[in-house]
Amino acid sequence: MLLKDKVSIITGGARGIGEAIALRLAEEGSDIAICDVDTDALSLAQKAIEAKGRSVLTEKVDVTNAEDVQKFVQKVLDKFSKIDILINNAGITRDGLLVRMNVADWDAVLDVNLKGTFNCTKAVARPMMKQRGGKIVNIASIIGLVGNAGQANYAASKGGVIAFTKSAAKELAARNVNVNAIAPGFIKTQMTDKLPEDVKSAIMKQIPLGKWGSADDVANVALFLVSDASTYITGQVVQVDGGMVT
Ligand code: NDP
Repeated sequence: MLLKDKVSIITGGARGIGEAIALRLAEEGSDIAICDVDTDALSLAQKAIEAKGRSVLTEKVDVTNAEDVQKFVQKVLDKFSKIDILINNAGITRDGLLVRMNVADWDAVLDVNLKGTFNCTKAVARPMMKQRGGKIVNIASIIGLVGNAGQANYAASKGGVIAFTKSAAKELAARNVNVNAIAPGFIKTQMTDKLPEDVKSAIMKQIPLGKWGSADDVANVALFLVSDASTYITGQVVQVDGGMVT
């Protein structure tokens, strides 16, 4: 087991990529704390992780609320006494062309994707620094590297997550806390299921490996980045995109 007796927090971990990461880390021996805003999905995820034989804490927490995030992190510390791993995965889209994009859609995406990542990283930074060790993985996107028409808000948020990752990595390195990002391409989840069929087939044509990624494809890379196999890697962005962006 790669993560025996570790404690991991996964934001937005009730379904999709976050849930796949939670299950993968649990299989490798980590206890799991998940926060999400989808309560039905939270209880399903809790059962699935318990079935892997690990302790689980689930809590309805909106990552945009710094105070609630802080309370959640304290609950995790009270239950498990430490935090070894944080996966900043909670994310949303509110797509639309720039000229039609309203301020509410801009703010919502920046708040969840970027401010949420800041809130959660800040909340775990002190305990990890005290422990002299930790691993943080931020789920960005290839859209944060190359942009996308109709996703100016999302691209800005994910580009911000990448820049934030590099800064946090530099600040926390002296305390042995690694901070990296994963930039997925197109992964089959509820987030992408809602895309129109013509958009989906246009995307397919741009993927050299000729298939959409799975949540497990991302989870396997997250596992590598939180394991001892990646101790000398920090401030990096690993693309999981079937060769789309080179
Ligand atoms: P999903 O929408 O399937 O899952 C995201 C989860 O996060 C949902 O349960 C959602 O709840 C929850 N969530 C949303 N807002 C908040 C919030 N404020 N606080 C806590 N939890 C929240 O998305 P994916 O699994 O597809 O995506 C996971 C991450 O991967 C996101 O950051 C996304 O941007 C990124 N990504 C995904 C790609 C893809 O192709 N799927 C590609 C590149 C990056 P609810 O739905 O109820 O709001």
